[in-house]
Amino acid sequence: METLLEVRDLHKSFNVGGTPLAGKRLRLTAVDGVSFTLRRGETLGLVGESGCGKSTTGKAILRLVEPDSGQVLFAGRDLLQFSARSLREERRRMQMIFQDPYSSLNPRQSVAAIIGEPLRIHGLAKGAELQREVLRLLRTVGLGPEHLDRYPHEFSGGQRQRIGIARALAVSPDLIVADEPVSALDLSIQAQIINLLQDVQQQFELSYLFIAHDLSVIEHISDRVAVMYLGRLVELAPATDLYRAPRHPYSEALLNAVPVPDPKLRRQAPRLLGEPPSPITPPPGCHFHPRCPYARDLCREQRPPLADQGGGHLAACHFSSEVGRFRI
Ligand code: SF4
Repeated sequence: METLLEVRDLHKSFNVGGTPLAGKRLRLTAVDGVSFTLRRGETLGLVGESGCGKSTTGKAILRLVEPDSGQVLFAGRDLLQFSARSLREERRRMQMIFQDPYSSLNPRQSVAAIIGEPLRIHGLAKGAELQREVLRLLRTVGLGPEHLDRYPHEFSGGQRQRIGIARALAVSPDLIVADEPVSALDLSIQAQIINLLQDVQQQFELSYLFIAHDLSVIEHISDRVAVMYLGRLVELAPATDLYRAPRHPYSEALLNAVPVPDPKLRRQAPRLLGEPPSPITPPPGCHFHPRCPYARDLCREQRPPLADQGGGHLAACHFSSEVGRFRI
């Protein structure tokens, strides 16, 4: 499959104030050298705990936040070199679906106006054609003409997310960055929205970067999965390989945290030690070492590279061959 998106060594940090008396400025490193590719028609799941930098990575790719450095090659061209005007035109091919569909929809606009807006802005349709197109998009996401004149507050969370998906599809994008699109929804609705995303992916030949904090959510939609911890990718693998045999202790811990119906199995799972460290002062060497049951002296001293494990499986762990001992 053709590569649609290639992210190379992406960095993004934020100034978070400082201690003026000490003359020190504090920087929070949200994205610390992230690299990956996304093929046309593929879904790459990007997973990690809250604050690991996954949403910032998605936004930096679309330049909704400006990266500090790196390259974002979209269909072979580096988006970070684009002028504001060229970027606006290119954005038509890259859309984002947000976690909270309510706050991402203008409460003062009707559904017809919300879905029609990108078509108007990009000059893709007007008049009767615009109305036909809006209705077609609405039907694509499982809504109907009776919803056209309603406002976001009149819909359930799942329906609002359907509207958000219709709006993203309006401009016929190639890439959708879906930032926790089902996290705010009930379990049964989550499954419906994921099925819908899969359906429209086939229909419109979309590529997804699907961001989630939970491996169970992305299991059925992802072709490959990237696991992120404190701004760095720690594992990247075909989904079946990662779920069957993770090669990084953090992925193993995330998999162990996926709910299973047998309570005895839950008790055998080793718990992740403590909370994630601050991204302002991350631990030296492997960022994961204070919480890792496999950690040794080397881990505190040397950062492990994201190394090839074979079969397109990458992991950043000095002792990746031992991982699996604590898998339940
Ligand atoms: Fe754990 Fe060491 Fe591997 Fe880091 S490098 S994940 S601390 S074993």
